This record gives sequence, structure tokens and C-alpha cells, in this order.
Amino acid sequence: MSRRQYRAILADLDGTVNRGRTLLPGARETYLELSSRGIGWIFLSNNATVLASDLAEGISRLGLAISERQVLNSALALIHGVRTERAGSKVLVVGETKLVNGLTAAGVRVIEDPQRADIVVAAMDRQFNYDKLKRAQAALLGGALFWATNTDAALPVEDGLLPGAGSIVAAIGTAAGRAPDRVFGKPSPDMAYLALALLGLPAESCLVVGDRMETDILFARNAGMDSALVLTGAASRGALKEFPYAPDHVLESIADLSSLFYSERR
Ligand SMILES: [Mg+2]
Repeated sequence: MSRRQYRAILADLDGTVNRGRTLLPGARETYLELSSRGIGWIFLSNNATVLASDLAEGISRLGLAISERQVLNSALALIHGVRTERAGSKVLVVGETKLVNGLTAAGVRVIEDPQRADIVVAAMDRQFNYDKLKRAQAALLGGALFWATNTDAALPVEDGLLPGAGSIVAAIGTAAGRAPDRVFGKPSPDMAYLALALLGLPAESCLVVGDRMETDILFARNAGMDSALVLTGAASRGALKEFPYAPDHVLESIADLSSLFYSERR
């Protein structure tokens, strides 16, 4: 099999690097080894309720010291989208405080009045209620754009699943009779484009590693990147054939990632 010579890794977090509050075996060693060989790392999360700095701190606390500049989430991708594609828009947000703060810090006008909204931003919101649903519906029926951070149906937690952003996006979409116009989290390639700008590399030089076929592996495909599926999270080897696309590599865990680098020397 011909292998591209990868110069950077775009790594999913939960299920790939860590599982909840535990770093997966070999994650730290692999990160250090490949980093020392000059391989760049960007960590990606669909979670829009936290800042990149929170994610970096969380992973660093588990023992893998990464910086805020190495982390992207769907909130950053959405904020970038507003700034570059719809600058000056007034945005009505169904989402949590950190997303609202991120938008305002980036100079985006966040408003409460649905009649004045140019864009409805829908995201994970643990204070979601009927009044928020009603205002989002009114804005969308009035012609506002419908942008979602991500559409993950459920949120894995230590002891099971919680409703994810996708559940809220679906409620709003049902009320307004429309699907989102844009979704910024995986599998949409927006975070990949931000990562490429940070790395200064073409898509062909990057490898996406993740545990989910329908987000991580499809994300790689949408971004024109190779992918490696790890079996430490959502996917099993047996379930691979249920998908109309396949990862370029299947690894037991992130501990095996080094085997895909410098393979031409073997
Ligand atoms: Mg994952």
C-alpha cells in the first residue's frame, strides 16, 4: 500500500486521546515521539460549550501537555465563519455562555430580539427551554440563516449518554420546518481548513485520527485528508462494513500511530 508522507496529525480527543478523565495508553508517548520528529498536532473537538483553552487545559491535566493554539472546536469554526462570510451580522444564540462570550470577543453582535436576527446559531445549551425555542423559531421564520455548531445527537459522559447539540438543533429545525444551512463541527470540513491554515500545510500532508466513522472518518474524507480509525472508542472493526466509505488505516489504538510514519524506511 502506498502511504503518503504525513507531516501533521489532526486528532480527535474523546475516544482517541482520552476516555473521559483518563488518557488512553500510549497517547502521551506517541505524541512526544512524533512531535520530536517534527510532526505537527492539532486536536479537534465538536464541543462548543468550552473554549480551546479549556480543552487544552483538560488534556494537559491528564498528562499530555498541549497548548491552546493546538486545539480547535466547532465554536471557533463557527465564529470564523461569521467573521469571514457574514461580517456585521446580528446573531441570536441558543448556546452556552462560553460560546456567546467567544462570539462577542470576536466582535460579533449577539442580540436577543428574533426580529432583528440575521443568523440563528444553535449549539449545545444545558439551559435550553421553550422560550429559547420560540425565539429561534421566530427568527428563522423571519428569514434568518440557521447555523449549527455541530449535530452530534448524544454526548458521551462517564456513565452513559446525554442529549447533544444535535437534539437541540433538531428541535429548532422541527419548529421552523428547516434543516440548518451550515454545520461547522465534524464531519463538515471547516475545522480542517482552520487547521491547515495554522499548520501551513496542504490537506495531502495531514492524517486525521479518530474513533468515529460518521464524524472523524467522514470529516477526513470531506477535507481530502487520509484517515486512521482507532478502535478505542465508538467504532468496532466489525461495524466498518456498514459504511459506504472506509478509513485509510485501522489501528487498535493511538499507541500504534507511529507505525504509519516513516514507513518507507522499513
Ligand atoms: Mg471521539
